[in-house]
Amino acid sequence: MRTLVWLGLAMLLLSYSLVAAKPKVTQTVATGRPLVVIDPGHGGVDPGAVSHTGIQEKAINLAVSWVTANRLQAAGIAVALTRQGDHPALRAKRFVVVDDLHYRAWMTRHLGATLFLTIHTNSEPTGTAFGPIIYYVAGRPASYQLARALSSGFAQVFGRSADIRPIRQTVLLEAGVPAANVELGFLTHRQDTAKLISPSYQKALGSAISRGVIRYLGYG
Ligand SMILES: [Zn+2]
Repeated sequence: MRTLVWLGLAMLLLSYSLVAAKPKVTQTVATGRPLVVIDPGHGGVDPGAVSHTGIQEKAINLAVSWVTANRLQAAGIAVALTRQGDHPALRAKRFVVVDDLHYRAWMTRHLGATLFLTIHTNSEPTGTAFGPIIYYVAGRPASYQLARALSSGFAQVFGRSADIRPIRQTVLLEAGVPAANVELGFLTHRQDTAKLISPSYQKALGSAISRGVIRYLGYG
């Protein structure tokens, strides 16, 4: 079934490149199951946050997204990733972040997604903030419910729920389905960074996120 989702993505990519500004696409991946679009933030020439030791956000986002995707698929939920490797799916000659974000949201709408998760790693100038934060779309109850379910997934795995905060963020607003931004931790915090680069911690994060999604979808 994963092949089907990737095939759908390939068709969408082709359609998107043909229609440019005003995409009109009717193909969706009709699996009869919930479809979760997972968006590993950044990629390619856009590394996202970078730790003082050179750890790039984009790599952590991708690793945790893959763990989450595999866990969800094992639970019978269809998944599509907006990028499967380092590069964003949309390869433009000149990379423009805002175009890339519009594209990721466009892909979510036109795949007929059930929900959208964008996965990021945080940074801030003081170096003191740490831990995961889950952002939901301000004023959208379904997005808030999703964030609460995700936070309970963190409580199950780590014994401590994640902070939930409202935000108005382009990619979440444009996704058109219940959406959340999971910020995994801070690359500007030494202990967070040490955890975030560990494969076992990445697996735990993916487990927490997937449990939250499964709970939200009532799919467990
Ligand atoms: Zn980011």
